[in-house]
Amino acid sequence: MAERPYIVGNWKMNGTRAMLSEARAIDRAAQRYMRAEVAIAPPYTLIHAVHREAEQIGIGAQDCHAGEDGAHTGDISATMVADAGAKFVILGHSERRADHKESNALINDKIASALDAGLRIILCCGESLETREKGGAEEFVLKQLKASLPRIDDAGERLTVAYEPVWAIGTGKTATTKDIEAMHNAIRGLLDDTYGKEQSENVRILYGGSVKPDNAREILSIAEVGGALVGGASLSAESFLGIVVAASETEEA
Ligand code: PEP
Repeated sequence: MAERPYIVGNWKMNGTRAMLSEARAIDRAAQRYMRAEVAIAPPYTLIHAVHREAEQIGIGAQDCHAGEDGAHTGDISATMVADAGAKFVILGHSERRADHKESNALINDKIASALDAGLRIILCCGESLETREKGGAEEFVLKQLKASLPRIDDAGERLTVAYEPVWAIGTGKTATTKDIEAMHNAIRGLLDDTYGKEQSENVRILYGGSVKPDNAREILSIAEVGGALVGGASLSAESFLGIVVAASETEEA
């Protein structure tokens, strides 16, 4: 894998301005642990404030609307998040697929809009527990990705994939190293076929689902794991930094 491990905190619907001190602490630490690339996706309301203060970390959004502008009360476009300082957007997160009934078609429209606005994409995929127990996890995830991978020439620059088994998100359960490795290898195969090896090798595949300081080292040392998408453990600088330190000390695969 070509690049530094990428550690991204997804703050979800958490954080008021009181959380800016955590963002500052994460930013300061990111300046010390440069072997990892560190980013956070705060709620929309904090993107601009974090962007103004952060010197090192990347700032992203957790979603965007598919449209450019117009009569969509309460929605935020890709152009708006870019204007607020976001450099990337997380799309296809399982919580959005579940809570907002987001389809692959809608996610594709959002990806197109985000790319037009100059944003990088973190595209999430992952199977339910039922699908895993039936033995269909790999087929499901590859199908989900095939439906959404954007047809672009510079995927290596603009795309990150996050494999997040739905049953591992926020539950304290993590997939086994063997299962993570098998899934990441399968995803890599699809990226090679879609973009060619040269572009594909620069697309990092993150693992997400209850990554914590005490399991990060093991997960991040799996071949083809190019970083982590972190929910709960990104809400305090202390626990998030435990993961950043593990990433910065993990040997390059
Ligand atoms: C997530 O929501 O992307 C996530 C991985 O959450 P958690 O780390 O809390 O499981």
